This record gives sequence, structure tokens and C-alpha cells, in this order.
Amino acid sequence: MLKRTHYTDEVETTEAGTVVLSGWVHDIKDLARTRFIWLRDRQGIAQVTIVKSTATPEILESSQQLGREDVISVEGTPVTERIAKVGGEITPTKIELIVRAQSVTPLDVSGKIESNLDARLDWRVIDLRRRENLAIFQIQSKLVEGMVEYLSGKGYLQVFTPCLLGGTSEGGAEVFKVDYFGREAFLRQDPQLHRQLCIAAGFDRIYDLGPNWRAEASHTPRHLCEHRGMAVEFGFMNDETDMMRVEEELIVAAMRKVRDECSHELEILQVNPEIPSAPFPEMRFPEIYRILEEHGKKLPYGSDIDKEGETLLCEHVREKYKTDAFFINRFPFAVKPFYVMRVDDEPQWARSVDFVYKDLEQSSGGQREHRYEKIMDQLKEKGMKPETMEWFTEPFKFGVPPHGGFCLGIERFTMSFLGKENIRETTIFPRTPERLLP
Ligand code: ATP
Ligand code: MG
Repeated sequence: MLKRTHYTDEVETTEAGTVVLSGWVHDIKDLARTRFIWLRDRQGIAQVTIVKSTATPEILESSQQLGREDVISVEGTPVTERIAKVGGEITPTKIELIVRAQSVTPLDVSGKIESNLDARLDWRVIDLRRRENLAIFQIQSKLVEGMVEYLSGKGYLQVFTPCLLGGTSEGGAEVFKVDYFGREAFLRQDPQLHRQLCIAAGFDRIYDLGPNWRAEASHTPRHLCEHRGMAVEFGFMNDETDMMRVEEELIVAAMRKVRDECSHELEILQVNPEIPSAPFPEMRFPEIYRILEEHGKKLPYGSDIDKEGETLLCEHVREKYKTDAFFINRFPFAVKPFYVMRVDDEPQWARSVDFVYKDLEQSSGGQREHRYEKIMDQLKEKGMKPETMEWFTEPFKFGVPPHGGFCLGIERFTMSFLGKENIRETTIFPRTPERLLP
């Protein structure tokens, strides 16, 4: 028999006389007259009902030997007058045991017995069999699908820029060093500079969806050593406000996609995220210093916003604009990398934009400097050696249009969207300072 004709969530609505379901034995209940087997697959759970008085000897025997987490295929007929309270129900005509599982699993798949996060991550595969954990990644997949649909609909090309770099974009100690045939190479922190080079090449609108690495021994609930970013870049912008319009449309498109296609998963997770309406409010430096001071927080003029300041600013925005989604613009140039564009007549401030949602930074971006002389000046101002950056700077002599973009953290965004407390929950196999396995 075919290993599967339907997923469990299709049983209720199918017109087919016979279906084949495949998955895991989620649970078994053996009563005097009836035996129930709950078969779990990616989409849910279906009830296989065996009425002992009418079942064939083969069905009675094959159903009796089953244990939890065994991998099975069941052929049967959908039951229309159902006893099952949730999901579909079938009467089996054939039960095939494909793989037998050890009888005791290290974690309780049903989720009735809670385990701590570390134990769950040690046994992540078993942990991911829990319906609510699977739902997180079904939603994450839809968020990304929504983003990709939005971008390809607008003519963006998906590109794959290198992860191994010969030089670092922002310098610093946070990069992983790699031995590259005896030479030193680095894992990228962000596909930033190569994205810009794609614009210099005339690709005009691109996105790079890929991994980034941070060699930071941080143990916060919002940092990983490896994360994915949706990195978008486009040319011929007027100024950084164009970038905000693209980003907010992308965010709204992603959230709508989930709302429209993942209602079941949202219900499993018992969340109902509000979709913010565009345009998102924009908060600017140096005005931010004044707002924070009104809320009793004095930040030195020209300094970056700290975590406490960010929280206060979020409260302010919530109060004034009734939203959790907003942009911070015009960061001090002093705290940003050399490639950002400054405001020409106020060079202390950069056209640098963060997107903040549910009290957390979700992305950084803005308009980049595209004028060769200014790039060179800014490199020197940041104390970098221009000769080490020629691979990046030389093309700017040959005509590069104004451009900009942003990089949105996928795991971080999923975490905030679903109201999870820890980014490890929204990362399939997290990489943290102490965890490199599984
Ligand atoms: P943070 O201040 O939160 O450490 P960042 O400003 O150092 O972030 P960026 O270089 O701006 O990070 O990266 C763009 C986005 O990628 C961030 O806004 C965030 O969503 C995500 N991101 C960055 N670093 C990490 C990390 N270590 N773990 C998970 N996501 C990250
Ligand atoms: Mg940032």
C-alpha cells in the first residue's frame, strides 16, 4: 500500500472512500469493546477506531502489538458519524507497523510532563514532536514564505552571498575565525557588504536569506551564536524613509500570511498576534534624548540607546501611538559602522534605522553611503585601514546609485511574534556558547 494518501487534517473533509495515513502512535487506549489508536503526523492527530466485535483477526492482532511512538501506516475508511472529538477518525482495514520505537521516550511527547529547556534541547528531536513546538516552526516557515512572496512580487532577486569572508565588515571580537587553507577567514555577521556590492553590480533589488554568526559569549534569551537573517537591499532610494516603507510592508505581509494560513497553529499556541498597521511610527535621534529625559532617563547626548532606554521608549510609543511596532532613525554616527550614510548637514546623525517590535530590536538597516570619497573619509574616521577594504570600496568609483536595506532576524522575529520568552524556543537546533549539539 502507498505510505500516505492523506494527512490527518484532511480526513474530515475528504471524499475518498479509502485513505492511508502514516505517522507515529501518539497514544493508545484499550477498552473492553473498543481499541483506540491515535495516529500523529505533521498536521495533527487522527483517531483509528477498532470495534472488537466487528474487526478482522488481522486488525485485532496488528493493533494489539503497537506502542507509543511506533511508526505506522493505517489504511482505512473515514468515519462520517464520528465519535472522535477532535480531528478525523477512520476505521482501519490494514495496519502496518513500519518501525518499532523504544517503549520509554526521554521526553513526554504529549507534553503532559514538562521538562526544562536544557533537557528539551538535549532531546530536541523528541521535543519537536510535541504539537506546539512543531507549530512554532510551521508559523516560522509561513512568516518567511510571506516575506519571500512579498519580495518576489516586488521584483526582488534572491541572491546567495558568501558566508566565508576574507575581512570583517564591522571589525571587532564578535566574529568566528576559521582556518582557510592556512589563512585566516571569518564567518559573516551579516551579508551587509556583499549585498551592497550586488547593488553596485546593478541587481537593483535583492534579498539574501541566510545564516549569520556571532562569537559573543552572551547568555541572553534573545541572542544566538548562529541566526538567520532576511537581508534586503535595494537601489535608487530617495532616502532612508523608503527603506522603512519596504520593511513595514514586508512585516505586515508576513504576519498576514500567518493569520490567513496558520489559524490552527496559532490556536494550538494560544496566541493571536495583532498585526500592526503601516506606516509604523518613527522615533528619531536626537529627539529621543528629550523623550527619555521626560521619562526620567538621562542619556548622554550623542550616545547609543541602552536596554533601559529602549524599554522606556517602547512604553512611550505604546502610550502615544498604541502600537508595539516602530522605527528608530538617525542613530549617532559614532555608534554605527563606516558604511552608513550620514545626514549631510548634520553629520553627527546617521540614516540608520532599527525596527523595534514587542520591546526588542528586530532589524538594523538604513541608507548606505554610496559616494566614494565619503566612504573613504568614513573608513578613516572609524580608524580602519582603507587598503584592507579595497575589495569593497573600489567598485564605488564606477557609479553606484543611492541604496539601502535592512537585516531582520528570523528567530528573534518569530520569538516576538509568538510572545515566546526565549529565542531558543524558536530555533530548531540552537547554537549558544555552551551548545553545539545536536
Ligand atoms: P542586538 O543589539 O540585539 O545584539 P545587533 O544590533 O548586534 O543586535 P544587527 O547586526 O543589527 O544586530 O543584526 C540585525 C538583526 O539580526 C538584529 O536586529 C536581530 O534581529 C538579529 N540578530 C543579531 N544578532 C543576533 C543574535 N546574536 N542572535 C539572534 N538574532 C540576532
Ligand atoms: Mg542592530
